[in-house]
Amino acid sequence: MTTLENLVKEAAVTAAPKAAPAPEPEDDIPLYAPRRKIYPQSVHGTYRRIKWALLIVTLGIYYLLPFVRWDRGPNAPSQAVLIDFPNRRFYFFFIEIWPQEIYYLTGLLILAALGLFLMNAVAGRVWCGYLCPQTVWTDLFFAIERFVEGDRREHMQRDARKWTANTWARKGVKHFLWLMVAWWTGGAWVLYFADAPTLVKELATGEAPFVAYAWIGILTFTTYSLAGHLREQVCLYMCPWPRIQAALTDEYALNVTYRYDRGEPRCSVKKAEQLRAQGAPAGDCVDCLQCVHVCPTGVDIRGGANLGCIQCGLCIDACDAVMTKLGRAPRLIAYDTDLNIKSRMEGKPSVYRLIRMRTLLYAVLIAVVGAVMIYTLATRETEGINVIHDRNPMYVRLSDGSLRNGYTIRIVNKQRQTREFALAVDGLTASSIDYIGVPARSDGRMLIDVGPDQTREVRILVTDRDPKPAQSTRVTFRLTDVATGDTSEARDHFFAP
Ligand code: SF4
Ligand code: SF4
Repeated sequence: MTTLENLVKEAAVTAAPKAAPAPEPEDDIPLYAPRRKIYPQSVHGTYRRIKWALLIVTLGIYYLLPFVRWDRGPNAPSQAVLIDFPNRRFYFFFIEIWPQEIYYLTGLLILAALGLFLMNAVAGRVWCGYLCPQTVWTDLFFAIERFVEGDRREHMQRDARKWTANTWARKGVKHFLWLMVAWWTGGAWVLYFADAPTLVKELATGEAPFVAYAWIGILTFTTYSLAGHLREQVCLYMCPWPRIQAALTDEYALNVTYRYDRGEPRCSVKKAEQLRAQGAPAGDCVDCLQCVHVCPTGVDIRGGANLGCIQCGLCIDACDAVMTKLGRAPRLIAYDTDLNIKSRMEGKPSVYRLIRMRTLLYAVLIAVVGAVMIYTLATRETEGINVIHDRNPMYVRLSDGSLRNGYTIRIVNKQRQTREFALAVDGLTASSIDYIGVPARSDGRMLIDVGPDQTREVRILVTDRDPKPAQSTRVTFRLTDVATGDTSEARDHFFAP
């Protein structure tokens, strides 16, 4: 039997008219519909290939990135991407983020959000369909399921029959493979927080810290549950993005759309021939339900926009295969807009407006935020100074009548060698600095040395001999690297009675 005959036969079974269910009294309508298990059928085509490629790239990056090395010189970790909690650093290739620079992560989050908005403005929930981790891992888990339990029809039939040893064995193998993937996912996660090769050895020999095992356990459990069991339920009930996305989209965004102008009225090939012979309208959709059977969220795209549709394009591939076999033009389902369909029905040309206010605005914002981040990263100082004024007392009057304020200075050295810094205070008429715990050099200079890639805290006392000081004077602390002349400044106040 040919595949097309299979399709038609299956469609006849699935699409056969059923007796209408008796309407339920309003009080008996359940709040939540019971879950219907979805058995997505495998599919081949352009969008499936794109999804495979993205799955390999994204999972490849996730699993292998911790092993990529990046030479930062002596005394620095050589892992390209590392979240170093003990030393409070984040390393991303040539970028090293200190805790004081956490705003870069804020910038990255803003960029990610804008990127998501732009994708949404161009092609709806394309993020959900191709790049969302839930989609990618669920896709992988579906592939394992099909590999072990067979494609849709075989899997459904086996589940419907009395379970045999073979069924149990297949289920066992599937869950074992799922757990292995989930475990490896958790294992890869912890490798981002320590030197990966070392941690792998420690994990294998049982010498890794408890927290590493705990996180692997948590990630194994969440991956196995979300990708193996909850699947489309996450997209339908747990993820806020579909609701937010619906509020952010417009009529020009491309979405996976059933071209009802071409597909309706749907009827079998034979019926369509008869109708056309009589001059009656007949659509291209043969109601084979292939688009529904391949859908990972169980959506019938022919019903119009649907919250459950993650815009993965697999129904396009399925329908294209059917259309090709029937000798009809592909893209009965396509990335399109309802607006275009209406235009075509009115005999007007399609309108694809990629460049419009919304997409321009997002693109400009991405460019601006990106440029600001690159500029600040390229020009950022390699030293830093933070000042905290003593709270109690705010000032002290000395026996000679002068006033003294105390400060705690934190100096940051972001370079990989020890540096010597000189400190000066500007804004007071006649001031001097006393350092606590910092010895004077042989030439009398007061210099503070800070080790490579370290911070140092120093207590200082600033004395002002102005006979008539203001109650509060704005002062600037200037830190200068004596070798390079690089300076950093911080502002605070000098208080008087
Ligand atoms: S309806 Fe089509 S595009 Fe939407 S989730 Fe299902 S298969 Fe993917
Ligand atoms: S839209 Fe395409 S795949 Fe879906 S039922 Fe119609 S012909 Fe079949």
